[in-house]
Amino acid sequence: MANIVWHEKWGIELDLTRGDLGHESIPKLWELLYQNDRIDALRGVPVAKRGLQCGGVCRRAGVVAWMYLRERGGRREAVHERAEDEQRHRAPLSDEHKAYQERIVRAADSLGYPANSEVRTAVGPRSWIQTDTLVQGEGGIRVGWEIQLSSAGAEGPRSVKARASKAAKHGIIPAWHTDRSDYARRTDTHWTRSDHLPAEVIAKTGDLRVVSGFRVLDFWRCGIHALYRCPDTPNRCGKRHVTPKPRDVLFDDLVRKTAAGLIVPITHRTGSTTHRFWVTDADRDQGR
Ligand SMILES: [Zn+2]
Ligand SMILES: [Zn+2]
Repeated sequence: MANIVWHEKWGIELDLTRGDLGHESIPKLWELLYQNDRIDALRGVPVAKRGLQCGGVCRRAGVVAWMYLRERGGRREAVHERAEDEQRHRAPLSDEHKAYQERIVRAADSLGYPANSEVRTAVGPRSWIQTDTLVQGEGGIRVGWEIQLSSAGAEGPRSVKARASKAAKHGIIPAWHTDRSDYARRTDTHWTRSDHLPAEVIAKTGDLRVVSGFRVLDFWRCGIHALYRCPDTPNRCGKRHVTPKPRDVLFDDLVRKTAAGLIVPITHRTGSTTHRFWVTDADRDQGR
């Protein structure tokens, strides 16, 4: 729920903490809006087509979060359509989250790459991309870091794929980092993971390891001397294969090298599964 609703069509804010919703000059505004919303609901009009958005936390975050209205025990409420948006109101940034953001800024800054937190990049008249921390790297490279830690909801972030591909489409390389192994196993974007650590440790300048999400590519010929099994046949097919091998990397190096274009995201198919991870640009080029 949220106290401030943005009425898209009229371009006004509705303040649900006030009886007149903050609009003295429009009597019975709530009754009017509530009735309209109910009628739309009965007609099966999707929430996203009813014109009411969260005008508070979500709007400030650059997110269009659709809402519907309800009355409960005489209380007037605006409800987020999606649980993910509701979550945004509950979870203030944890100390660990902030420590990661500061660490990214510091690591990027050490090479002279500007980085800023809570950046909103306009990508259209009514559309933004909100990034936890945005690094401006070499030759126009932009890396958008998203930090998703244990403190976030158990279900994990929704619409990661849509958010990541929106960023990529607009020239921001999405880089999602977590301390949860269940998130790190997801294939909806290029996740990296570190162990779960307290904010003091993340904030320090010492080693902070990335334990999954970065790989080295081992290219090999499928012949009699090959070390690996053929991924395609029970025998030796004679073709060239590639085996991605997990490799730890330091978090600061990951931040710097992604900004420099030396570490890049790739997709790798095995059977019907598409894996997403980071490799060196040299490995990527060799695999092309
Ligand atoms: Zn909201
Ligand atoms: Zn083979």
